Amino acid sequence: MISRKKNVLSIILACALYLIFTWSLVEILPLNPLYVILTSTGLLLIANIILHLENRETQQSDKAIELIQAQTEIERLSYYDELTGLPNRRMLLKKMSQSMQDASDRHLHAALLFIDIDHFKTLNDTYGHEIGDRLIKETATRIKQFLPDEATLARPGGDEFGIVLPELKGEIEAVSEAVLGLAEQIRGALAVPFDFGNDFYHSSASIGVSIYSRGTAKITLSDMLRQADTALFQSKDTGRNVVSLFETHMQEEVNTRLAIEQDLRKALSREELRLFLQPQIDKKGKIVGAECLLRWQHPKHGLMSPALFIPVAENTGLIVAIGKWLLYQACSIITRLDADNQQMRISVNVSPRQFRQQDFVKQIKETLKVTGADPQKLILEITESLLMENVHEVIARMVELQSLGIGFSIDDFGTGYSSLSYLKLLPLRELKIDKSFVDGLPLDLDDGAIVGSILALARNLNLEVVAEGIEKEEQLDYLKASGCQLFQGYLHGKPVFCEELITTLLAR
Ligand code: C2E
Ligand code: CA
Ligand code: CA
Repeated sequence: MISRKKNVLSIILACALYLIFTWSLVEILPLNPLYVILTSTGLLLIANIILHLENRETQQSDKAIELIQAQTEIERLSYYDELTGLPNRRMLLKKMSQSMQDASDRHLHAALLFIDIDHFKTLNDTYGHEIGDRLIKETATRIKQFLPDEATLARPGGDEFGIVLPELKGEIEAVSEAVLGLAEQIRGALAVPFDFGNDFYHSSASIGVSIYSRGTAKITLSDMLRQADTALFQSKDTGRNVVSLFETHMQEEVNTRLAIEQDLRKALSREELRLFLQPQIDKKGKIVGAECLLRWQHPKHGLMSPALFIPVAENTGLIVAIGKWLLYQACSIITRLDADNQQMRISVNVSPRQFRQQDFVKQIKETLKVTGADPQKLILEITESLLMENVHEVIARMVELQSLGIGFSIDDFGTGYSSLSYLKLLPLRELKIDKSFVDGLPLDLDDGAIVGSILALARNLNLEVVAEGIEKEEQLDYLKASGCQLFQGYLHGKPVFCEELITTLLAR
């Protein structure tokens, strides 16, 4: 480009010199000035045209370079992820599609793995985006060390990674085993705490695997994606930090779950939810309280257990609306029983998602006001899982509700995470001994020891105890002898439609 500019300059210089030269000729020789002017103008014109052409050439080659740069940039942006430099979702799809084609043509297999960092959002919110970003990058580095050269590691988005393993040779069983082995190695590596100099960060990942086999030629790219997603969902559902291989039954389970989700959205407005009550009795056998347990009168499937739909309600957030409705019903029952001078406490299960709602306290205050229920009669059952995140915020909220007179109970006590130091800080009224510890009584020594220590702990902290799931007289006798005060189980009564229990109570 520089030499071209020099050329142009020399042409201009030459023209100028020629002009001076011809002018001097006019002066010295008797030449026609018109002829001289015409000649020099012509020369200038020629020089101008050459200059213009040269310029255009330079501009064109500059433009070509810019275009290539822009194309590379567009390609980078549209096929690669900014943070990690890894291929993005689009590139992942391209690679997967290619390897499926290749597998079909050459009678091979290909695998797609989806990896999702467990509880990444919490980590990101707690420690900040900088740590979150570092974790993502470090995760990519850890995964890479296990991958063969021909594999593609991509970051389709957020805390998710995808791996395409092309050209897998051998029988499908051996291929599956090898892919699962690799996935297991990756899972293990991601479960090792991350050392970021100042601190260790505990993390883990869930992995879903789908294998494309030459025998399943009808499977499309979107089928493969859905299958890997379903397997990943399965890993998350079975408690995370797990590898799952897609199996056909999983798809059915996901479909059922989706169908439940769709129906559940309409259940409230269609008035299909039912409030059941299970009695709680004291040492003398008198009904002194009841636990609210939900049922769903499904138009097709009949009366459905909460174990089937509460997890769906939790995952979709529908639990918030359902919880509101249930709380209103429970408070109305308290008011009705109080009007008849019944000394009854009513327990309501509160799921973590419901408890964490910003306006949860406000909601309860309003419900108490509208229904006129006595807060002293209301007990909220929470689980230990609620105490795993932001425990101080949870405690503050509990204290606020306790100041209204509401009691708190820890449900399924002993089955989850429980820290004795936190237990002392919690404004609790009672503990519920889980059915699994009552089951083995009176013969199982371990169950006996656990029940004994829960009762001792409760005495120490001045808490009431309700034993759940009592089905046999021997269990009841053992619990009574150990100092338990309140009992709940099929022995005294299964959960029944609320009106049924209310009628019994009002008639006594
Ligand atoms: P949970 O709170 O631990 O409730 C006790 C469960 O044990 C109830 O099952 C009850 O019917 C059952 N049960 C009580 N006594 C016995 C017994 O002697 N033998 C046997 N085999 N079972 C007994 P249910 O009603 O199916 O509820 C299951 C779970 O669903 C509840 O466990 C609770 O975690 C959840 N759930 C129920 N209603 C609600 C609700 O309104 N909100 C929320 N968040 N969760 C709810
Ligand atoms: Ca409960
Ligand atoms: Ca329970």
